[in-house]
Amino acid sequence: MAWVSCPQCQGKAKGGRGCLIIFLVIITFPIGLLFLLVKPTFVCTKCGFKFNT
Ligand SMILES: [Zn+2]
Repeated sequence: MAWVSCPQCQGKAKGGRGCLIIFLVIITFPIGLLFLLVKPTFVCTKCGFKFNT
């Protein structure tokens, strides 16, 4: 998990790869490694704007 600033309102955006993704990687190994290629998505806690880094 990581905190970045929202490009729209400069508020706090929460995102990154959560525990769920890591869990999926482990239980579906080695195919699950493909989940690591998915770009982490961030969601602004202030305006709800979604974006990728
Ligand atoms: Zn925002």
